[in-house]
Amino acid sequence: MAANKALFLDRDGTLIEEVSYLRAPQDIRIIPGSVEAVRRANEDGFLVVVASNQSGVARGFFSEEQMLEIQELVRQHFEREGARLDAFYYCPHHFEEGKGKYRIQCSCRKPLPGLLFRAAKELDIDLTASIMIGDKLLDVETAHRAGCRGILVQTGYGAQQWERISGKKDFSDLFAVPDHVAEDLLGAVEWILDAAER
Ligand SMILES: [Mg+2]
Ligand SMILES: [Zn+2]
Repeated sequence: MAANKALFLDRDGTLIEEVSYLRAPQDIRIIPGSVEAVRRANEDGFLVVVASNQSGVARGFFSEEQMLEIQELVRQHFEREGARLDAFYYCPHHFEEGKGKYRIQCSCRKPLPGLLFRAAKELDIDLTASIMIGDKLLDVETAHRAGCRGILVQTGYGAQQWERISGKKDFSDLFAVPDHVAEDLLGAVEWILDAAER
């Protein structure tokens, strides 16, 4: 049996503010409460794993190196505040818009569960004990396809996404119904930790 439980986090709009195709370090803005959320998840024994679509690489908007630099700055910011982002997984591909080697039909672009499967294998994660949090229904769908629970946050694109479904009585045409909807990442983590105590 796999040893670890993970909290999979979408990056843009969930952990840090959504900036369309973020490429400049000065545009990194940590969403308020995110650091505390990660710290509390760390303390509760979750591996905190970022899982992000970064098709800006495929589209040629920024290089993989630039994207990795942003990622490292985010990691360092959290580390300075005593919060540990254990691993980062990302999909740099896009099948239609991608250039060169990035134009492939991959299995890691969310909502495909490839990133979560890879993390599970490399980090010995029990997916059924794990949860993915994101600001899109696509993140929730990714979670469910991987066998995790999925939480939608209302930061980033989340408020818009929630509007699409909150008035609905019939969910049968919906591809992913969140297990919970939280205001933000901290709210999501508090909900998880409270639920575990009950
Ligand atoms: Mg997002
Ligand atoms: Zn991919």
